[in-house]
Amino acid sequence: MRKVVLIVLFLLAASIARLIAQSNPAWTRPFPPFHIAGNLYYVGSEDLASYMIATPQGLILINSSLESSVPLIRKSVEGLGFHFSDIRILLISHAHDDHCAGSAAIIKLTGAKYEVMDGDVSVVQSGGKTDFHYGGDPHHRYPPAHVDRILHDGSIVRLGGFALTAHLTPGHTRGTTTWTMDETESGRVLHVVIVGSPNVNPGYKLVGNKTYPQIAADYKRGFAILDKLPCDIFLGAHGGYFDLTGKYPRWKAGDRNAFIDPAGYKAYIADREHAFQTELARQSAAK
Ligand SMILES: [Zn+2]
Repeated sequence: MRKVVLIVLFLLAASIARLIAQSNPAWTRPFPPFHIAGNLYYVGSEDLASYMIATPQGLILINSSLESSVPLIRKSVEGLGFHFSDIRILLISHAHDDHCAGSAAIIKLTGAKYEVMDGDVSVVQSGGKTDFHYGGDPHHRYPPAHVDRILHDGSIVRLGGFALTAHLTPGHTRGTTTWTMDETESGRVLHVVIVGSPNVNPGYKLVGNKTYPQIAADYKRGFAILDKLPCDIFLGAHGGYFDLTGKYPRWKAGDRNAFIDPAGYKAYIADREHAFQTELARQSAAK
């Protein structure tokens, strides 16, 4: 009887978590596109972050987000005076539908090359079916997209004389990628970090995970990398990571340093690491 109650509670919790995720209005709420620094621009929604890098040989886009995000991203790119069809390279933060479901559509519209971290390649190419956690859940499926270049930890993506680095920060997915680049603004070089996701999602098994046995070790590896990255401009896969809605009004009021936040980066990573360690200890004790 107790087992049945537990199973029912678990299923209830899982469907509530899904409902919350799907009905998060900030994911699809339009947000004004704006210049961050150097050749880097924000082109995402209020909470699903997308970034555009403008080079003399075309555009790099990070995060295609949901299928329904594609027209919003397009509007943002065009609103900044660029051509959506100039997107040459498409990158993602990690292979979850809220960051990569729109990839197939963007590739079709632009002919962009899709460059994805090795651990996430099969997931995006199967439209989410091989995800270690959500693979069996049709709500998290999306159109599959072919990967043109497989990235590894430290891979460099280059276009038009510009380079950005892919750091493997796994755990959240096998191929979760944190992007770094240097941008020059008013003669000052600024280290940019776009955090891939250090979060332990509801229902993630950190102990005895049959579909991702090394998950806890991977999170630790990811935090070891995130702890060391030099960061001036703190960004991430979701606006909520770096307080987009809190910082943007300052930027709009003329504060061009609004997104320079090394202390905020350190505090965010420390907080997420603490959350991971707490959940790992809880699951280890329950074993
Ligand atoms: Zn995710």
